[in-house]
Amino acid sequence: MAEAKSHEAQAEELQQIRQSVVALCDKFPGEYWREIDAKREYPTAFVQALTEAGFLAVLIPEEYGGSGLGLTAAAAVLEEIQKSGCNGAACHAQMYIMGTILRHGNAEQKAKWLPKIATGELRLQAFGVSEPSNGTDTLSLKTRAVRNGDHYVVNGGKIWTSRAEHSDLMLLLARTTPREEAKSRSDGLSVFVVDMRETVGNGMTIKPIRTMINHSTTQVFFDDMKVPAENLLGEEGKGFKYILTGMNAERVLIGAETIGDARWFIKKATDYANERQVFGRPIAQNQGIQFPIAKAYAQTEAANLMVEKAARLYDEGKDIGPEANMAKMLAAEASWAAADTCLQTHGGYGFAEEYDVERKFRETRLYQIAPISTNLILSYLSEHVLGMPRSY
Ligand SMILES: Cc1cc2nc3c(=O)[nH]c(=O)nc-3n(C[C@H](O)[C@H](O)[C@H](O)COP(=O)(O)OP(=O)(O)OC[C@H]3O[C@@H](n4cnc5c(N)ncnc54)[C@H](O)[C@@H]3O)c2cc1C
Repeated sequence: MAEAKSHEAQAEELQQIRQSVVALCDKFPGEYWREIDAKREYPTAFVQALTEAGFLAVLIPEEYGGSGLGLTAAAAVLEEIQKSGCNGAACHAQMYIMGTILRHGNAEQKAKWLPKIATGELRLQAFGVSEPSNGTDTLSLKTRAVRNGDHYVVNGGKIWTSRAEHSDLMLLLARTTPREEAKSRSDGLSVFVVDMRETVGNGMTIKPIRTMINHSTTQVFFDDMKVPAENLLGEEGKGFKYILTGMNAERVLIGAETIGDARWFIKKATDYANERQVFGRPIAQNQGIQFPIAKAYAQTEAANLMVEKAARLYDEGKDIGPEANMAKMLAAEASWAAADTCLQTHGGYGFAEEYDVERKFRETRLYQIAPISTNLILSYLSEHVLGMPRSY
């Protein structure tokens, strides 16, 4: 009985979070996103509002000034943002990158950074993993961090480091032991918190990359950049393992975002189909219009179950490699099916910016490639879940 009550209380809390997020998002309608998209500007006012409302600190424990909620709550926040037509990509990383500090940082590191990340005084939005030369093969990354007394000297570079220009801190994955000397394939990589307020222009150069979406992504160059040794998280050489848990959380949250996108597209398509009159009747009366929308709806509901399951298992402290990957893949596919259907339902008007369909269509496409592509998820499931040979 007590347990049933606590489920009820949890559901009630989630419902309240969802309603508050929707109320906040109502202040940032399509016009806002269209304008910043055209100018390729960062949505500062939106991110500020989310920060002030505490939504970006839901995963930070209460003792560090956050709400101390789980991945299920964080997923609900991001789903509602996307479902409202907004774009959480501008700040979703502030929610989950700190998890690596929380899980692997020492007491001083946590006390130094987490409370300020919770208030937004410190923005931890940049995650430096991808590099130009190695692509998805993270273990081949070349950025080197070499210990020199009380600091490390970093050389190399990252690509697709999103929000680097709008962040104070970067979580950086770099090689501390040359690959040929490392004990295993995944050994020899380390994670650092880089204070970009000190390093930009001082060993670090950031170059924006203009893309088909407004994502504030960049290329970052390190040239003898000094990072204090006290900014190393956990043990040297064990960094890859540390970021994997964070990547699973990220996949679930991106899954929740794409569920939100899918729901936005389905509603937009349904409303338009019911309104638009062609041949003297609403186009929604044609099964050729109805069926793809209904199919995308079914796909979205099924994918959402996997997102919810992965979040719940994560909150229970379970290893969620398979579920996180499946959640992200299925949800991104559902959102893409919904996006394509929504555009088709709108006919020519889908291409007009004022409907917001083309913008969301571009935005949601990213998630079949980042943070991990569909092929790599299928490879993971084939090898690690189904026991087939590694293909690469
Ligand atoms: C807008 C944007 C924002 C991003 N933000 C960040 C960020 O903040 N931080 C960060 O570190 N990274 C970021 N990324 C990088 C992103 O995670 C990578 O683009 C993604 O992991 C794919 O890597 P890649 O682009 O190097 O593709 P590649 O690894 O070059 O792959 C190209 C294609 O080949 C396929 N492929 C590769 N190997 C295999 C194989 N063995 N079997 C089958 N198919 C294969 C892939 O599936 C893909 O379709 C971002 C990317 C974009 C576009």
